[in-house]
Amino acid sequence: MKLSELFTKTRKDAPADEVSKNAQLLIKAGFVHKEMAGVYTLLPLGYKVLENIIAIVKEEMDAVGGVQMKTSALQSRDVWDKTNRWDDEVVDNWFKTKLKNGTELGLSFTNEEAYSNIVKNFVRSYKDLPIYPYDFKTIFRNELRSKSGIMRGREFYWKALYSFSKDKKEHDMFYEKMQQAYTRVYDRVGIGDKTYMTFASGGTFSKYSHEFQAVSDAGEDTIYVDEQKNIAINKEVLSDEVLIDIGLDRASLIEQKAIEVGNIFTLEHKFSEPFGLTYTNEGGQEVPVFMGSYGIGITRLMGTVAEMLSDERGLVWPENIAPARVYLARLGNIPSVVSGADELYNRLTTAGIEVIYDDRDARPGEKFADADLMGIPYRVVVSDRTVQAGRHELKQRTKDDVETLSIDNIIETLTQ
Ligand code: ATP
Ligand code: MG
Repeated sequence: MKLSELFTKTRKDAPADEVSKNAQLLIKAGFVHKEMAGVYTLLPLGYKVLENIIAIVKEEMDAVGGVQMKTSALQSRDVWDKTNRWDDEVVDNWFKTKLKNGTELGLSFTNEEAYSNIVKNFVRSYKDLPIYPYDFKTIFRNELRSKSGIMRGREFYWKALYSFSKDKKEHDMFYEKMQQAYTRVYDRVGIGDKTYMTFASGGTFSKYSHEFQAVSDAGEDTIYVDEQKNIAINKEVLSDEVLIDIGLDRASLIEQKAIEVGNIFTLEHKFSEPFGLTYTNEGGQEVPVFMGSYGIGITRLMGTVAEMLSDERGLVWPENIAPARVYLARLGNIPSVVSGADELYNRLTTAGIEVIYDDRDARPGEKFADADLMGIPYRVVVSDRTVQAGRHELKQRTKDDVETLSIDNIIETLTQ
């Protein structure tokens, strides 16, 4: 991608009302545009990061048997009346609207009802189970506070998978597989070493649920971490009884602020019963389907990485999710430099390496500052001097040393 073709620009300051570090950085780097508190547009570079995170999550969901679909954002009231979750007294963060004829509609704030209502049309016998449908979706929540940038949107993007199993035994096996899939997701997006699986409240349906909490001062939650056992527990469920259940010792726990980047829930029959989602088992009896739910806030995850891995110069994207691998800074406009930089750009893109090519007429300092602010993992500099030497400068975003390498060696280093 050539910067001269990209319409976004970096800027010195974020809007005065933006208090979160992730949104400040993403706005300054030109990755997102703030519509209003809790509502953000993803600009081209931000959307690339989102797509990269989606690809990782999709791979991991498909690997455990997930099948992708796309549910509607507009939801009919009848479906929600079945579980008594339409009432504003019961769910306080609904966005609702009406058809011209007065029929009430809601904008999806979660998906258990929609999935149960859909799946019941297709499940008849034990032979139809288990199934693991999922989707990526824009979710709407009228959050009371929205001060955490894209980590708490009133409109946000998530992945939700629902498991439909024959019984608890089958469910438990899948639930454990999902714990591992989630761990791989957080590793691959670059925050695995700071993310803990925590014991959280299971609500009305099970003793515990599990959350995936990334340790950060920007977090809205408090967890207690046992670093040695690599496990944690949410403040809201901390009690001696719980500590004994998971074999933890109150002495060895450290209090930390953390961001909930995902959660997994055992739902049992809570949703299958009201929807009549049953199947005929091998003994010929009609029994309810055993359900689970598995969410990841995709935009929250992106904000979390931005927040946690950044430094005083700006964003720092891990290679797996960066909008490009290389920032190619061309210094000057003389023909030899232009053709040298063009050649390198073509060679890199032909080798399958994504490049942001800074072909603008701007000062070197400005180009270096933008490369850092955007957080691109590698920077290559092409100047009159490097063209004459036949070797260009390669530097990593997180390191200080600069290497001078031939084009072949640059490509070799970047494709390793
Ligand atoms: P929280 O406790 O942070 O309000 P939640 O427990 O209500 O979240 P779920 O309804 O279980 O969240 O949604 C699944 C996932 O979606 C969460 O683990 C989180 O990663 C993400 N998420 C929830 N609310 C938001 C939001 N307002 N903006 C961005 N992501 C969100
Ligand atoms: Mg929560």
